[in-house]
Amino acid sequence: MLTPRLSSGAGPHKAGTDERLDRPLQFMKGVGPKRAELLDRLMLRTVRDLLFFFPIDHKDRKTVTPLKHMRPGLAVNVRARILDLKTKSFAGRTRVEAKIADETGEFRAGWYSPFVAERLEQTEWAFFSGKVVKTKRGGYELSHPDFEILSRRSDEAEKESDDEAPAAGPASPDFGRIVPVYSLRPKQRRPDGTEPPEVKLNQSFLRRMVWRALEENAQSALPDDLPASVLDARELPALPDAVRQFHFPDALGQRDRARHRLAYEELFLLSAGVALRREQIGQQQAAWKLPLGPTIRKRILARLPFELTEAQDRAFGEIAGDLARARPMNRLLQGDVGCGKTAVAVASMLLAVAHGTQAAMLAPTEVLAEQHLRTLEKLLEGSKVKLGLLRGGASAADRKAFLGGLESGEIHIAIGTHALLEGDVRFKALAMIVVDEQHKFGVEQRQALRAKGTSPHVLVMTATPIPRSLSLTLYGDLDVSVIDALPPGRAEVLTKWLKESDRPKAYKLLIKEARAGHAAYVVLPRIEERSIENGDAPGTFWSEVKGVEAEIKRLKEHLPSLRIEALHGRMKGEEKDRALAKLRGGHLDVLVSTQVIEVGVDLPQATVMLIENAERFGLSSLHQLRGRVGRSGLKGHCLFFAEANTKESKERLKVFEGTRDGFAIAEEDFRLRGPGQFFGTEQSGLPEFQVADLLQDREILAEARADAFALVSADPRLAKPEHAALRARVKQVLGKRLGLVDVG
Ligand code: ADP
Ligand code: MG
Repeated sequence: MLTPRLSSGAGPHKAGTDERLDRPLQFMKGVGPKRAELLDRLMLRTVRDLLFFFPIDHKDRKTVTPLKHMRPGLAVNVRARILDLKTKSFAGRTRVEAKIADETGEFRAGWYSPFVAERLEQTEWAFFSGKVVKTKRGGYELSHPDFEILSRRSDEAEKESDDEAPAAGPASPDFGRIVPVYSLRPKQRRPDGTEPPEVKLNQSFLRRMVWRALEENAQSALPDDLPASVLDARELPALPDAVRQFHFPDALGQRDRARHRLAYEELFLLSAGVALRREQIGQQQAAWKLPLGPTIRKRILARLPFELTEAQDRAFGEIAGDLARARPMNRLLQGDVGCGKTAVAVASMLLAVAHGTQAAMLAPTEVLAEQHLRTLEKLLEGSKVKLGLLRGGASAADRKAFLGGLESGEIHIAIGTHALLEGDVRFKALAMIVVDEQHKFGVEQRQALRAKGTSPHVLVMTATPIPRSLSLTLYGDLDVSVIDALPPGRAEVLTKWLKESDRPKAYKLLIKEARAGHAAYVVLPRIEERSIENGDAPGTFWSEVKGVEAEIKRLKEHLPSLRIEALHGRMKGEEKDRALAKLRGGHLDVLVSTQVIEVGVDLPQATVMLIENAERFGLSSLHQLRGRVGRSGLKGHCLFFAEANTKESKERLKVFEGTRDGFAIAEEDFRLRGPGQFFGTEQSGLPEFQVADLLQDREILAEARADAFALVSADPRLAKPEHAALRARVKQVLGKRLGLVDVG
């Protein structure tokens, strides 16, 4: 597993702590080399793994009805052996009949499904749940019962086992109680991204394994890292108890309590890590104090060509409040595409400049950095504020001049991409950093940035609103400002999912808009350049460049009167600028592009966004693309073609067509794709949860977060002896991920 698990028990520092936990499963009764291999595929290697292999469901099998008590109309659980299995044709349908028996008698079960025969073929003992009905021929039978195979007659893997019939009596792992159901599907996806098939182990076998571990009381060796004070306050069960009850609960209520405790623990650990990070940042006391007096305020606002909206003004006020303090700001500025975040950032940077310090603005791409430079140049025309842009492909002389300007303090606001993070970039007095579209930056880059100045104030901006549940976790150390209204004078954007037969209509619109002097984007999904060496058939060789070129050719055939050019990721920075400049200057009607224009490109006369193969874009990306049009008073059109093959992609595109609310979109995106893919697991820095589910467990998260923050605030370095175990765990599972310098 790539990421350390948050659940108790997993992790190197625990290795060798207890023999009962670290015993390899292959030495357990009933496990030979074959089964050991199958268990390994489920990441089950030791007893500890087994204890933390939590069920995905439970079945209530408290009462098992003996076959001699079968009465019509009863819903029953039956444990029986298959004596005979027949497949018949009956009224044109395939009917499967099983003769089953237990210690008390015999009975019949029947299904109209040919697949049942296949599954029951080699079955000896099984568990049946269903209803007793009267048949047309006058007898009684179990009609279409669900079944679970308990043992097989001849199963490759089974041969090496203790081939006993599942034990009867009150102490059985399979019935007479609420029983667990485990996922047999390995978690890791295959290299081609598909789900691996289920492992050929049966539920009964896994239950017996877990049962034995619990009987041997291995769980009592699990160390409980949550402080006793927290457990008491929330009345949470102790860890060994929770583990046992989650597998084999005495009642469903107990199961829920156990699950709650385990989810709470994961969320508490993460929150404690975030709280510690926040403490660390807060302890760096050296931030510049940049108060906003009425004179400075007036001067700054006079710079902007428009009045700030109420929402912008509120955000600016919150930022200015932070900047006035010696504690470094750590704030997230959220707001939908086009709501005017840049203006707020500029006002904030001017505050730094007004105090004789420097600010830096980081953009995810060169194109955006260039655009920010232009925006700032326009806003600051005629002022003495000096801007500097660090271009990736700058000549040695240009680079030197830029670096010199930063070091002498001559440059007030530096703009650039990741290149601004490099080692030889030094500032005279860097007081503030603005990170635009922060989802393109990982946690580690944020750390690197922080190391640049003497604890600079940091403002991160994102147009991908972070769902509340996520922002409470990973971004939980950030203060948040929200711009929740668009500037006045925004026209609507009509979003429409087009069928292939609508294509002529779409092209007509492109012509009409071009005649009116407006501009259009046509966007294709980015296709990874695959090489023949990678083992693909020669015919599948395809590249981003070729895709864009092919699309231009096609468009030119249909739209000979339009001026059409390309913008793609393989173009050099200045080529991209040239294309955008042409579009801006009205020398181009259509720009054919890949996602490079997704973030932030701001062109007032752009009115059409036409997206091809929209099913290949994430919801947030689509929303970003749509945000490129309708940025002035001109009515925008967002048209897309898509082949939605899955239910998920259909749902996603429907949501996109139906709403323009960025927060609603983010929540949906998060719900549909899950936290892992929302930002990309690697970038999100989110650990993998075993039990917790950020969507389902919002309330638990809120509690765990409140508790963890209170604990860390009372013991900021977790130095108290009763917090030692917690400190070690947090450091071990989250230290690197959260950039915790030194927890101890
Ligand atoms: P964001 O970065 O949030 O996507 P921008 O800061 O790029 O949005 O602003 C989008 C557009 O709205 C820009 O053209 C900007 O000049 C304009 N704008 C921003 N704030 C205002 C305002 N208060 N009144 C009028 N226009 C505004
Ligand atoms: Mg922007």
